[in-house]
Amino acid sequence: GGLVLVVADGDSIPAHAFTSEDPAASAKKKLVVLGTGWGGMSFLKELDSRLYDVKIVSPRNYFVFTPLLPSVTNGTVEARSIAEPVRRMISSKGKHIEFYESECIDIDPVNKRLLCRDASHIRTKDHEEFTVDYDYLVVAVGAMANTFGTEGVQEYCHFLKELEDAERIRENVVDCFETACLPHLSDAERKRMLSFVIVGGGPTGVEFAAELYDLVSEDLVKLYPTLRELVTVTVIQSGDHILNSFDQRISAFAEEKFRRDGVSVKTNCRVLKVNQKDVEVKEKTTGKLDNVPFGLAVWSTGIGTRPVLRKFMEKVGQTDRRVLATDEWLRVKGCKDVWAIGDCATTEQRKLLDDIAYLFEKADVDHSGTLNVEEFQTVMEEARGRYPQIDLYLQRQHLQHVADLAKISMYDEKKKEKQLSIEEFKKALSEVDKQMKLYPATAQVAAQQGAYLAKCFNGLLDVDHKPEGPVRIRKEGRHRFQPFRYRHMGQFAPLGTEQCGAELPGDWVSVGRSTQWLWYSVYASKQVSWRTRALVLFDWTKRLFFGRDSSR
Ligand code: FAD
Ligand code: MG
Ligand code: MG
Ligand code: MG
Ligand code: MG
Repeated sequence: GGLVLVVADGDSIPAHAFTSEDPAASAKKKLVVLGTGWGGMSFLKELDSRLYDVKIVSPRNYFVFTPLLPSVTNGTVEARSIAEPVRRMISSKGKHIEFYESECIDIDPVNKRLLCRDASHIRTKDHEEFTVDYDYLVVAVGAMANTFGTEGVQEYCHFLKELEDAERIRENVVDCFETACLPHLSDAERKRMLSFVIVGGGPTGVEFAAELYDLVSEDLVKLYPTLRELVTVTVIQSGDHILNSFDQRISAFAEEKFRRDGVSVKTNCRVLKVNQKDVEVKEKTTGKLDNVPFGLAVWSTGIGTRPVLRKFMEKVGQTDRRVLATDEWLRVKGCKDVWAIGDCATTEQRKLLDDIAYLFEKADVDHSGTLNVEEFQTVMEEARGRYPQIDLYLQRQHLQHVADLAKISMYDEKKKEKQLSIEEFKKALSEVDKQMKLYPATAQVAAQQGAYLAKCFNGLLDVDHKPEGPVRIRKEGRHRFQPFRYRHMGQFAPLGTEQCGAELPGDWVSVGRSTQWLWYSVYASKQVSWRTRALVLFDWTKRLFFGRDSSR
């Protein structure tokens, strides 16, 4: 007896025929997405949400543009400028998507059920946990800071992962300066207060150090002129160089710049323990022990797996792994209907060598037990779509090179007679397999994976698991979708004082001031909405004219 719509010719149609209560709609598969970071939001952005009954579970009702997080620590950019409300993002497309601000605390892959907990600060004890059923699950919960079990890190260091972390760091930096002004401090105490220690010389640690140096040298020195000489910034890095995932020219440029600025870089140094007022370090080469006092320490040495995924990994038999593993279609290994993208997962790429017997048999069309030049070329061509490492190899070397490794020449007529044994074939393929690298834990990878997966879901993904066995490279039994492939678009390393290193595809490396402007424009154009784009540009402009805000 609900509402009745009356149409012109007098027929009456029940109103629910126009709502989501119609039978077709209720038959939609339940698709649940965990996480509203780079992976989750890029998935939702591309997904045709009419095809599924979509729910999002995440403890944060906003997306964070993480590349600008270090800029929040010194007030170059306001925290609010780099956060975009999830509800705004999902409603802007006229989508019907449910959002639950809560944390998933358990995944039950057998009954396809999630246990979630309200992420609200105002907890009502009796209602805080609830369950959500899924048909398909996309896990994009990201990673958390990794202390590697080092004592004292949780208690005394800051992390730089979340928006709150960045805001807290900013407050504490200013607090260090204010405290250092108090009259009763000894000189040593004052110096300690103004010692900033960064553990980890990766992109985040280095960028934070650079931002901090900018804040101190451009703004705070004017406000606290007497403290200038007392400020120290120290980066502690366990490897030989900082930024070692970057091109060596950028890493060298960064080290040189820090040397000039007086940011001290301790390489080959391991942190043994963090105390309330200092870190204990050990120099790897000499074995020398040292204490570095700090007023503020930031820990940024790498990422680890969230507890909810640890538990899940045990349930699906991934006990021997550090990170949740998926195949190249991003399906979690060991269970059905669960996908994982971004920092919380690793994509296991298939080696040519795993399939060597199969490839050899396919290639050897004349069943001679050896491959001739033509057979070899054909199989490599056909395998290209399935094994991205072939293309990566070819980008660097010519196919001839692969053939050379296998001692056959495609161009030398005399050698054309050469036949390739399976052993020689194996040697050539193992060279090609060396091109495979784990995908880095970056926004770029997470976003590309999210977009890829959404396209598969839009194409009404054939969700039944295909046999994992030999991979077919011809027509029969082909996957409906190509495996995921990562396209590296380059990376930036902002180094402070309007200096920046950039590494773009095609081995293009650039450092210097113009690169900083390139960085500004890339990040401004990559902002997720016009609102955040405008806010960030406004913040940058404000800083250029008025300097940074030093109020807490
Ligand atoms: P995230 O973006 O971390 O998203 C995870 C989401 O899951 C969050 O919304 C979180 O709230 C939610 N979540 C957590 N636990 C649960 C749970 N139990 N249940 C449900 N939801 C949960 N990458 C670049 O490419 N370029 C850069 O310049 C760059 N700079 C960076 C600077 C900093 C300071 C940091 C910290 C990272 C930077 N990165 C950069 C890396 C990049 O941010 C990550 O690789 C990217 O965020 C990974 O995306 P994700 O979706 O896997 O995880
Ligand atoms: Mg995510
Ligand atoms: Mg995020
Ligand atoms: Mg990953
Ligand atoms: Mg043959």
